Amino acid sequence: MNAVKEPSFRESVDLMFNRAVALMDLPPGLEEKIRVCNATYTVRFGVRLRGQIHTFVGYRSVHSEHMEPVKGGIRYSLAVNQDEVEALAALMTYKCALVEAPFGGSKGGLCVDPREWDEHEMEQITRRFAYELAKRDLIHPSQNVPAPDMGTGEREMAWIADQYRRMNTTDINARACVTGKPVNAGGIAGRTEATGRGVQYALQEFFRHKEDVKAAGMKGTLDGKRVIVQGLGNVGYHAAKFLADQDGCKITAVIERDGGLMSEDGLDVDDVRAWIAKHGGVDGYPSGRYVRDGSKYLENECDILIPAALEGVINISNAERIKAPLIIEAANGPVTAGANEILREKGCVIIPDMYANAGGVTVSYFEWVKNLSHIRFGRMGRRQEEARHELIVGELEKLDEHLGDAWGMSPDFKQKYLRGAGELELVRSGLDDTMRNAYQQIREVWHEREDVQDLRTAAYLVSIDKVAASYRALGL
Ligand code: NAD
Repeated sequence: MNAVKEPSFRESVDLMFNRAVALMDLPPGLEEKIRVCNATYTVRFGVRLRGQIHTFVGYRSVHSEHMEPVKGGIRYSLAVNQDEVEALAALMTYKCALVEAPFGGSKGGLCVDPREWDEHEMEQITRRFAYELAKRDLIHPSQNVPAPDMGTGEREMAWIADQYRRMNTTDINARACVTGKPVNAGGIAGRTEATGRGVQYALQEFFRHKEDVKAAGMKGTLDGKRVIVQGLGNVGYHAAKFLADQDGCKITAVIERDGGLMSEDGLDVDDVRAWIAKHGGVDGYPSGRYVRDGSKYLENECDILIPAALEGVINISNAERIKAPLIIEAANGPVTAGANEILREKGCVIIPDMYANAGGVTVSYFEWVKNLSHIRFGRMGRRQEEARHELIVGELEKLDEHLGDAWGMSPDFKQKYLRGAGELELVRSGLDDTMRNAYQQIREVWHEREDVQDLRTAAYLVSIDKVAASYRALGL
């Protein structure tokens, strides 16, 4: 047992914040204003289920309203508590500022295990929770816009949107009250994959900078890198799948609730995911080595470790044994403040949560804009773009005939070039651009300032600076 007490999640976020502001020149009042959580609303409500009234406890925390609406997911888990929701709300403030999504930070949570209730019951619970929040403007297109998080997804977001619309029948922007909805209910193409896709883009950008790869003691590109993923849910699954299918990574271990699977040859991500969906866990999966205590696999040799489940999984009790030279925090808060120090001293590079998993809120921002503009991205320009491309291809074809064997278009050039960008292509392009820009801003601070020793501190500096600028613009 380690005698040193680990700080709570919120204390951990505050410690990291304090470490960063110590390197800044902010007036003390403003520093405090940015750090504290503005308000946390606790709701207790009853729902009649299975012949009796069950009471549920939920939270919606608003960390900073320097920009409105405030934004942040809703989590369903029995472990939800005020400390956690406030820590996550604070991270949302910093995350939105970092990727320039024009929102303040918020987060919600409901103490419920979605696996204990059937779909109809979950709908009743969700609608009641949404009602409690919406009647206090804690769900509102211009004030507070939730999104999915652990234990929630498109289905819950569709119920929340519908509940809000029923309560606000004349609000033309009602759909913008929540993001992460199914595409046929006002969602946007590419939102479900967005956080995992953002993790992929973040890693691609990291590997474009040789100096950064070297700082982690690594070489080369993503191709062939051994990756361990904890949590094969929305974020972990998409990140692992894209890295394996498109970047040549090998997923050498998957860690889930009921244990871990390991295979040096690489696991088939879709197959493991299908097994989990059918059997409720990884136990019994026909290939790979299974252990019941999956967290042991966090300590395996690998190139990249992707914690994509819970907070606090890399802490002072196991940090010393973590061998990965590069950790990308797909989950929020997976590395505690204490573990962060231990890992930094070991030379491990951590790509911090506030940047690494910002893909979700980035595409949520696109969805919110789509809802407010009431038009699908690409609808106006796509065919026009295709017509212009057609003109160029026509000219190239004439050249092709003229030059004969001396020159020839690649076989699939015409098909690829002619296709105008639809919503999905535009969303991915906007996400890629966001992830590249944000990383470049952080790495610049990391490399240029001698007193900044890691990417996390650099990310805090960049984002706090932006939040402070907004407050100053408000005259504070
Ligand atoms: P999810 O519910 O889809 O998936 C979580 C996965 O983790 C599940 O497969 C679950 O079985 C697994 N898991 C739970 N407890 C575990 C344990 N003790 N050990 C190993 N695995 C465990 O949730 P998600 O949306 O993928 O969120 C995962 C993390 O990413 C959270 O920290 C969340 O805050 C963060 N995040 C999510 C989004 C998003 O868009 N969904 C955006 C930003 C950040």
